[in-house]
Amino acid sequence: MEYHLSKRIPVEEGYDLVVAGGGPAGCAAAICASRLGAKVLLVEATGCLGGMGTSGLVTAFDPMANGEMMVVGGFMREVVEAMYERGFLPSYVTPEFWRRLYHRWTPFNAEGLKLLLDELAAEAGVEVRFFTKAVEADVDSETRRVNGVVLHNVDGFTLVRAQTYIDATGDAILSELCGADYLEAGRDTEHIMPPTLCALVGGVAWDRIELDAITPKGQQAAIEQAVDAGFFSQPDRHVPGMFRSGETVGFMNAGHVFHMNAVKNKSLSQGMMQGRRLAWEYLRFYQQHMDGFQHAEMVTTGALMGVRESRRVVGEYQLSFADYLARRRFPDQIAIFAKAVDIHVYDCTEEQYRRYYEEFHDSGRLAPGEWFGIPYRILVPKGWQNLWVAGRCASSDIQVHGSIRVQPAAAMMGQAAGTAAVQAMNFGETACSLDTDRLVDSLRQQGAVLPETP
Ligand SMILES: Cc1cc2nc3c(=O)[nH]c(=O)nc-3n(C[C@H](O)[C@H](O)[C@H](O)COP(=O)(O)OP(=O)(O)OC[C@H]3O[C@@H](n4cnc5c(N)ncnc54)[C@H](O)[C@@H]3O)c2cc1C
Repeated sequence: MEYHLSKRIPVEEGYDLVVAGGGPAGCAAAICASRLGAKVLLVEATGCLGGMGTSGLVTAFDPMANGEMMVVGGFMREVVEAMYERGFLPSYVTPEFWRRLYHRWTPFNAEGLKLLLDELAAEAGVEVRFFTKAVEADVDSETRRVNGVVLHNVDGFTLVRAQTYIDATGDAILSELCGADYLEAGRDTEHIMPPTLCALVGGVAWDRIELDAITPKGQQAAIEQAVDAGFFSQPDRHVPGMFRSGETVGFMNAGHVFHMNAVKNKSLSQGMMQGRRLAWEYLRFYQQHMDGFQHAEMVTTGALMGVRESRRVVGEYQLSFADYLARRRFPDQIAIFAKAVDIHVYDCTEEQYRRYYEEFHDSGRLAPGEWFGIPYRILVPKGWQNLWVAGRCASSDIQVHGSIRVQPAAAMMGQAAGTAAVQAMNFGETACSLDTDRLVDSLRQQGAVLPETP
């Protein structure tokens, strides 16, 4: 049965750019575009900026250097440096973590990131609307132009018209509403990377804990033993684990919610409940099996499910694993990156754990000093004029998605999309026919690390 909803709603005009989603990609896009002079509206479904890093409690930035140099520049570099200056990184973290070290994560305080992003958005003049969702789009599907986006919040529905639009929702919500093509999650319908509901744990005696013992590798023997003893409700051998993110606080990334579909509400709702149950289960594991966690206590679980993969838009180019293996450099490169392919187990079999481990540690892994390029065209839904995607839903195959799905890469894509949108307006260009030399110049001026490409 269907019900036809027809409703008169107010229209707002005058924006240059609407960004849907305030995670690392959306914040970078909105703030950088606003700094370049655009009138920007940033709409975010939750009550804070930061996306997975704050509402999802993923309180660590993935590696930003390759053992020789920092490959992540621009807005993301500004954020991590400011977090350090303001004391929002744990005291054991030094600038070497993000400026030089090979495959080193940088943990942070989630409330610090929320505050910093609020301030950066306000300083740049971005209008932020929290608790606001993009729920429909007005498009001309012939010419592939977006005319407006319908938003919903406590004030009701509004149609907002702008010249340009960026989808930074992680799940490609705006692209789907516009009718852009996308791929569903997974290598196939059976093999979808499971999410994890992350948590913050307090009362950890970090000074008593040998940090090597608590790395995914260091703790593996204890996990295997507990799995064999039937401690967990599912025999999952892949546990990223517990990471020190404060003096007594740990960020817990443990417990896969297998076969959950992030873009089906029923599945997502059940997944949240299972995620909370698993979080408690893993807390008990740490309390009972790992030294230093005896007095650990649950502080909170994420308000957002930790979705690792859902939709990927079909872009003007699809970045592929072959590009990654070739350490490909692109003339329209908007970022470079150096993270391994990280695709979690699809189920609890030993075969899956082996597959994950080999893929992460062996299969073409970038050596110190190496990097690959991220081209502009993966940010443009195929054929669209004034719509861009940035972050987790950008156009790539499933393997390279396992590398670029993380916060620093999302932020670099966001900065590039925001800059491209402003350039398109200023020079009368479209998303799919943009002068990418000009874009690359502009990104370099904003501090992006973009070595000359032959
Ligand atoms: C369990 C887990 C562990 C991870 N570990 C790390 C790690 O250690 N380091 C790292 O760097 N990365 C890590 N990642 C990856 C990383 O956190 C995300 O992939 C990254 O945040 C993606 O950025 P994004 O901006 O594309 O999307 P998100 O961070 O997901 O942000 C999307 C935002 O859009 C909002 N939104 C959604 N729909 C709408 C709508 N219709 N209207 C308005 N707003 C909407 C959401 O509320 C959200 O705030 C991890 C991810 C997971 C799930």
